Amino acid sequence: QPMGTWSTEQIRNATSQSVMMTWAPGKAKHNTPLITHGEGVYLYDDQGKQYLDWTSQAVCSNVGYTLPESVLQATLQQMTQLPFLYGGLGLCETRARLSQLIAEILPGDLQGMVFPSSGSEANEAAIMMARRYTGKYKVINWYRSYHGGTANSQQATGDFRRWYGGDHVPGFVKAFHPNPLFWDLAGATPEERTQMALNMLEEQILNEGPDTVAMVQFESVIGGGGVIVPPPGYMQGVRAICDKYNIVMHCDEVMVGFGRTGKLFGFQHNEGVIPDIVTAAKGITAAALPLSMTACRKHIMEYFEDNPLGWGSTYQAHPVAMACAYENVKYLIQNDIIGHVQRLAPILEDNTRRLAEHHPCIKQYRCIGLFGCFDVANPDGSNPQLQHTAIDKAFVEYKKAYTANGLIGLMRPPHLHVAPPLVITEDELLDGFERQDKALYVLDDALGY
Ligand code: PLP
Repeated sequence: QPMGTWSTEQIRNATSQSVMMTWAPGKAKHNTPLITHGEGVYLYDDQGKQYLDWTSQAVCSNVGYTLPESVLQATLQQMTQLPFLYGGLGLCETRARLSQLIAEILPGDLQGMVFPSSGSEANEAAIMMARRYTGKYKVINWYRSYHGGTANSQQATGDFRRWYGGDHVPGFVKAFHPNPLFWDLAGATPEERTQMALNMLEEQILNEGPDTVAMVQFESVIGGGGVIVPPPGYMQGVRAICDKYNIVMHCDEVMVGFGRTGKLFGFQHNEGVIPDIVTAAKGITAAALPLSMTACRKHIMEYFEDNPLGWGSTYQAHPVAMACAYENVKYLIQNDIIGHVQRLAPILEDNTRRLAEHHPCIKQYRCIGLFGCFDVANPDGSNPQLQHTAIDKAFVEYKKAYTANGLIGLMRPPHLHVAPPLVITEDELLDGFERQDKALYVLDDALGY
């Protein structure tokens, strides 16, 4: 039978038999809808029900589901002309042009490009790059961050997902995020807090031994861990510390790169900061095909002109994925999608604030660009759910209401993210908040407010 002809029952049966889940227990598959197609910012299930994609799935389907014609054509053409070329075997125009385009849109001399397939692999490549370039091995990351599901990137991760593998890959050190949200330093001004956070980072480097620290690697804006934006001056301070101790500075832009925050890259909110390495993924193809990038500055690239990187994969620089990425990035620029995000950002912020004020279950909120997050609390102020525990009943109720009101998206209680496709219209955005508002009343009740 050709694809597209199976009944719901056939699909559900085969799923029960053979489909495994990853971050969720396998049984979770029975509670997920059977999605048949997408259009604009909406997904549709086998019953014809429409869902507004409220988190761009894993904050990746940034242009929604009606792909630009140019992306479709370029991808098909590449697939017809040269479906695959192993990265080490030959050069191709697609790779040259995508490399040049990304080098042009990145600031400074970030010009060396590797194109793995996932964000995790991009971060693996970055870790290898920093270790081999500096001849040192330790990597400093922040708690609450997420860097991937491969051995090193999972160990670099600062949230609970690091624990699954036994937390036993050596060479990774965790630092605290500077966001004052988590700091109770009575009387300190924001500037003083930032300086204290920088002093602590430097103290940590001195105690780890500057000659052992290869890289400081962090999300420009912590995404999955709660849309946490570094305070003004912090990134500039990290840049200065890295320069002082010959440490590579790496910004992980896998979630926020290509426009999510209202800048092309999240680190660009920090005047004058040029990281040594930038990784991105998701938004580079708007998730239509798997591709990521690891970009490095000229001096690092030059080092690897004479030395092998020591990392690779079969699908690095996959021509079809690169053709898709090239047209997608051009589409973002030519259609001023970043400008659109900047125009919608105040509307997202107003509505996030409005819902936070209306719903007692929301303790606080944060947002930047088209990226918002609510933190939910119990009536006694405690977290209803630490992220690694079994799902709290209240969130089961919330998710039912969320789905019933026509929203679909990832949920990481106690954080509830808002991250619709970057191409969403103002009306669709307002409609999404109305749907979420209704679901939040159910969460208020379920948590006993
Ligand atoms: N880094 C960040 C900041 C991410 O948000 C993610 C995924 O969500 C990753 C790395 C891992 O990317 P991937 O899932 O494509 O391997």
